[in-house]
Amino acid sequence: MSTAANISSPASAESVIALLRELAKPLAMENVSLSEALQRVLREPALAPEDQPAFDRSAVDGFAVRLDDARTEFQIVEEIRAGDWKPRELQLGEAVKISTGGALPGAGLQIVMREDAEVSDERLRVTQREPETNIRFRGDDCRAGQILVERGTTLSHGMLAVLASVGHAKPLVTRRPRAVHFATGNEIIPPEQTPQRGQIRDSNSILVRTFLEKWSAEFTQHRLPEDESAAKYQISNIKSEIETADLLLISGGASVGEHDFTRRLLEDLGFEILVSKTTLRPGKPLIVARRGKQIAFGLPGNPLAHFVCLNLFARTVLDSFNGATPKELFQRGVLAGKLEADGNARETFWPAIAELKAGRMELKPLRWSSSGDLTSLAQANALVRVVAGEMNLVAGAEVEFVATDC
Ligand code: AMP
Ligand code: MG
Repeated sequence: MSTAANISSPASAESVIALLRELAKPLAMENVSLSEALQRVLREPALAPEDQPAFDRSAVDGFAVRLDDARTEFQIVEEIRAGDWKPRELQLGEAVKISTGGALPGAGLQIVMREDAEVSDERLRVTQREPETNIRFRGDDCRAGQILVERGTTLSHGMLAVLASVGHAKPLVTRRPRAVHFATGNEIIPPEQTPQRGQIRDSNSILVRTFLEKWSAEFTQHRLPEDESAAKYQISNIKSEIETADLLLISGGASVGEHDFTRRLLEDLGFEILVSKTTLRPGKPLIVARRGKQIAFGLPGNPLAHFVCLNLFARTVLDSFNGATPKELFQRGVLAGKLEADGNARETFWPAIAELKAGRMELKPLRWSSSGDLTSLAQANALVRVVAGEMNLVAGAEVEFVATDC
């Protein structure tokens, strides 16, 4: 592996991302119903099988009359409602009552709007004749064979409506990634409980859960005891879950402390450790490992570090698994305020608010002082990349950032 395989020295964000892109290959494909396809990646282009609309339709409620018939009084000879198919050749002086969406009886017609007409018995009097035909002609929206949604697109609700309209009821998409998440740490208690002294509420599990949900992953979450052999025993009880997972996430215990056993646990499962530390701030104690096509992360327990690693690295893996057309992870923007970088020797990912203003992304840096600080996440939707050694970045400076609300 060219990038960062088997490194014992700390890896940069760049090299970890490159490594993950190399490791994570698009998962298998499956056909799913439209109601299951939101946020899934389309793996074949969706073409229009026929012109859309497929027939000339009335755009309004009104009366079809011949374009070449300039009179104001007509005889109503037929009614066409949406869903009807009643072809007929209109004679001079004839009109057909037609509903919005109704198929036109023939060519060379115009629809007089209901609002521009008076009707008594079967007689129609046109009070105003607009120049518009008020017809949606066959092929107005798209032509047969036209690509409507490109391969590699993440399906939005609008796209699903398009697919439905042309009969792509079972689009071919990437299967959902499968993940298993373990939270470690004896100090961790569920959010609904009141911590005793020394305990803290588990904020990482919900972070991971909702992050995985955004990526349409199927996943399970478990707590692992801090005791290494007890943890290994617990894992042995869910072997099949681990065997079928594409992604393993272990929160906490990724460092080098006596009780930090994530590395040993992964090695025990037959994973090859590829990264054991990074040059990032926050996010230094990060483990990246692989076993065949499976990828595992030992994530730093500190919530902000957790957030950074999920948004940079787990996201890169899920993106590659998805088989979406590759997008740049880093975008460019300008700082909306001063960023006090203090010359830190480590590349920093700084929580910020990204906002589109006058056509450019502006980034407002948020306050944080440690990787354990969490409150900035109440506002952050971006991480600004601050290069190692940077002292201070002034308002207006051009920066790179990663959006975290995607
Ligand atoms: P660790 O990575 O296990 O050394 O943990 C680093 C810090 O993150 C410690 O202060 C932990 O208490 C904290 N931490 C670990 N797991 C969680 C979690 N699930 N939620 C919130 N904080 C955590
Ligand atoms: Mg711990």
